[in-house]
Amino acid sequence: MAEYTLSTGMEVHAELETDSKMFCRCPVEFGAEPNTRVCPVCLGMPGTLPVPNRKAIEFVLKTALALNCQIAKRSVFHRKNYFYPDLPKGYQISQFGDTNVLGHFGYLEVPTKNGGIKKINIRKVQIEEDTGKLMHLPSGGSGIDFNRAGVPLMEIVTDFPPDIETADEAKDYLVGLRQVLLYLKVCNGKMEEGSLRCEPNISIRVIGTDKYGTKTELKNLNSFRSVQHGIEYEYKRQVSLLENGESVKQETRGWDEGAEKTFPMRSKESEEDYKYFPDPDLVPMDFSDEYLEELKKTIPELPLAKYRRYQADYGLNHYDASILVAELSWSTYFDECIKMGGDPKLICNWMSSDFAKSLNETGQTFQSSLVTPKHLVELTTLIQKETISGKIGKDIFEISFKNGKMPSEIVQEKGLTQISDESVIEKYADEALKQNPELIDKYKSGQTNVIGFLVGQVMKQSKGRANPGIVQNIMKKKLDM
Ligand SMILES: [Zn+2]
Repeated sequence: MAEYTLSTGMEVHAELETDSKMFCRCPVEFGAEPNTRVCPVCLGMPGTLPVPNRKAIEFVLKTALALNCQIAKRSVFHRKNYFYPDLPKGYQISQFGDTNVLGHFGYLEVPTKNGGIKKINIRKVQIEEDTGKLMHLPSGGSGIDFNRAGVPLMEIVTDFPPDIETADEAKDYLVGLRQVLLYLKVCNGKMEEGSLRCEPNISIRVIGTDKYGTKTELKNLNSFRSVQHGIEYEYKRQVSLLENGESVKQETRGWDEGAEKTFPMRSKESEEDYKYFPDPDLVPMDFSDEYLEELKKTIPELPLAKYRRYQADYGLNHYDASILVAELSWSTYFDECIKMGGDPKLICNWMSSDFAKSLNETGQTFQSSLVTPKHLVELTTLIQKETISGKIGKDIFEISFKNGKMPSEIVQEKGLTQISDESVIEKYADEALKQNPELIDKYKSGQTNVIGFLVGQVMKQSKGRANPGIVQNIMKKKLDM
């Protein structure tokens, strides 16, 4: 039996987070009453003229630069002609051509599970407008909501031949790309609301051959999970077709989340069917080197750079570094703590355990929490210097989290400093031994694990303030006497 390998290209559409639409002043807003964010321009009335949204173009250029693309010195808008009810003009304003599109021939590098880096080439990053939305009416029949028509849309397409060879890599790419968009603040990344949409095309071929198979395109994928599962399903479906002597049909297929299956939606039009031509209503866009240089300066440190820095400078592992860069709010908070002198590993541990848990339970973010970076740095430093024990640290964190008091203040008020004075600890130890004389015999007869209980008694008597390391040493010394 032949062995098959998977090839996946990715087409991603990202709605841009601008205030207004691409060619008119209508506001961009998700979830508004249908057809209330519209005007003659985005409804495609004859005689109207589009005026491009400068911010949207800037967002696409920034993304293209962040994705290591070449930027077109001159770029024009094209009309993509097709008939569909959600497209009032009968064409979509888009872009066409290898080097005419705003950004082209770039790449994105993403960390993989095994700690390596996968490079995925990108063919183009272009600008276009979104279409309206067909919806089923509660009273029966269908309606069209044009609130989304004309919303600025960025299209990011990977290169051919495809670099993505597994469903995992497809997910890693999408995760990495979404992070970049969020760091650049150009898209809100909400797949469940459709502001980030991914349409992978999938083909298989016999391992060792270089002829790519017929590809199918997948739609309706609204989570990372559905992207991964959809691709895995499509791979298996295509393999079984070929195994049975049938062939793969070029078509667009939908993903049925409930049934975990793909189903045929429509056969795929080829590119020529759209009869692209330059839009005569719009002037070409020209970008000077100076302008692009200025734009480059506004790009913040990107997730991969942060991921590498956290490992190289702070010695964090793949897992910790990935967690911190996954959300901009996390890495921003972490960076602030480090700037204030916090210990990277300790800060990371606190953020990803107790702190994250408390935020989750109360629906807050690192930025909205009363525990500021200053609080967390102070708390971890108190523990590190053994002024307080780790256990007391947790109690103090809870208090800070509730009322915003500084950890040092709480320690002062409640007298929670750690006891490291050996003479004081010895008294506690003597007391514990006096109350449990039978344990001394057990210890001497070889049951050395009773020491844990005795240490616990001292910790209890000292209300958690005794330094556990010193307690352990003293207790052992006394028992061995
Ligand atoms: Zn409008």
